[in-house]
Amino acid sequence: MMTSEDGKPAIEVLGAGPAGIAVAYALAKTGKADVEVLERAGAIGGNSASFRIAGIWCDYGSHRFHPVADPQVLADVKEIMGDDLLLRPRHGRIRLGGRWIHFPLKPLDALLKLPKKFALSLLADSTFGRFRPRHGGPRTFSSVLLDGLGPTISHNFYFPYVKKLWGVEPDELAVKLAERRISGSSVSKILLKMARMLPGLKGETTGKFYYPRKGFGQISERMAEAARRHGARFSLGTEIVRIARDGNRVTGVVLNENGRQVRRETTQVLSTIPLTTLVRLIDPPPPPEVLEAARAIRFRGMILLYLVLECDRFTEFDAHYFPELSIPISRMSEPKNYSASTQPEGVTVLCAELPADPGDRWWQMSDEELGAHFRTWLAQVGLPVTVPVRGCETRRLSHAYPVYDLDYERHFNRVDEWLLGLDGLLVFGRQGLFAHDNTHHAFAMAYGAADCLDERGRIDRARWAACREEFSHHTVED
Ligand SMILES: Cc1cc2nc3c(=O)[nH]c(=O)nc-3n(C[C@H](O)[C@H](O)[C@H](O)COP(=O)(O)OP(=O)(O)OC[C@H]3O[C@@H](n4cnc5c(N)ncnc54)[C@H](O)[C@@H]3O)c2cc1C
Repeated sequence: MMTSEDGKPAIEVLGAGPAGIAVAYALAKTGKADVEVLERAGAIGGNSASFRIAGIWCDYGSHRFHPVADPQVLADVKEIMGDDLLLRPRHGRIRLGGRWIHFPLKPLDALLKLPKKFALSLLADSTFGRFRPRHGGPRTFSSVLLDGLGPTISHNFYFPYVKKLWGVEPDELAVKLAERRISGSSVSKILLKMARMLPGLKGETTGKFYYPRKGFGQISERMAEAARRHGARFSLGTEIVRIARDGNRVTGVVLNENGRQVRRETTQVLSTIPLTTLVRLIDPPPPPEVLEAARAIRFRGMILLYLVLECDRFTEFDAHYFPELSIPISRMSEPKNYSASTQPEGVTVLCAELPADPGDRWWQMSDEELGAHFRTWLAQVGLPVTVPVRGCETRRLSHAYPVYDLDYERHFNRVDEWLLGLDGLLVFGRQGLFAHDNTHHAFAMAYGAADCLDERGRIDRARWAACREEFSHHTVED
């Protein structure tokens, strides 16, 4: 084990998204290791970072910190954020059957606003659901939803939404997607969730979310500051270009520092970068079947469009959800409404999430063209832009969502098994474990990883296996 001058194990963390930052924080705080975090981007926070446009803090699409977070994670986030962490009511709208309905759903609002035909079909699905013949053959995302939720909500909401998000038909997606993403897996569970929104049945945080004053990324910034105070180092603008191994032992990482290749000798690497990238960087390369499996694993990308408008506020809502296929964006948020900020005056930003893949037609469009499309889509849903527009900026995420197609599990398991056999390497985080997880899950994974390292930097593999089992039960909050 390589050690630092003060005898602590020297650990390299790959990636400074929430997972990389949180593991650095946990290891530095307990004094267990000497930690350096290597990050390709010029800023920390990964997909959970924030940046300013027209003086307004913006995120990579709608980001909320969910109160269901593990108690230790929530306690740490509250401690590092102090008064800068706001508890905000969720106030969104979803378009169903051409009508706007409050989202998350509220019983009275849904009763009054859902189109009557839709509501009656839903009621029929729920009443007669148990008599519906089950789908035979291999189980897929679509068969599980049709069996559990019935045709009305599947065909009008989930199927078009997943097709838009992943660019894949619902019957080509794995059951796992339903397990990880859909907490209301039957109509009765959805009704129960709605009932919890009723006054009297509401918990303290029901229908609410945590959000920092200066954008979601402030959580990562604050945690990184705390990690630095405990001695962790962050090297930004540092791309990992090679991970050296000797047999099944990791021996070093090679970095690209301002065009110069620099090798760091290390015997312990904690990786949170996409597992497909990680496999490609390992030298000598893994066996051909592992490389082939990694090539078959696919991430979905996303373009974020930021339209800058000259008005205090465009709508009162934090987010608008668009399940229908007739417009290609899945969600639109207004960042000012997340933090309830009124500043700066006379300007607001709308952020649209456009699922896309690197190289496709959306990916190649200029910001101006995308901005013009954005305005057309808004007009289509009855929200025409009638105020002056300053312009449109975009950001592109190549790794927004893991694609759980019908074969992904087989490919993932092959890669995962091989990586688990490498001494001195631990892989976790949303990109590392190809998981649909939220930020609080990325933190929980990082804390689990830190716990599995002993004072000499060795990994307790049995404990890690138990952690992985726990991570597999994470359910995504939207
Ligand atoms: C549109 C959208 C909305 C979301 N909304 C929410 C929400 O409301 N609430 C919530 O809790 N979560 C939300 N999430 C999920 C959240 O963004 C992730 O869970 C979180 O960012 C995962 O953290 P991570 O550290 O595992 O990965 P990432 O944030 O992806 O970080 C990985 C890091 O690795 C770096 N990296 C990659 N390759 C290299 C390399 N070769 N060398 C060096 N560094 C490298 C990247 O630059 C990045 O900084 C959302 C995600 C998306 C896409």
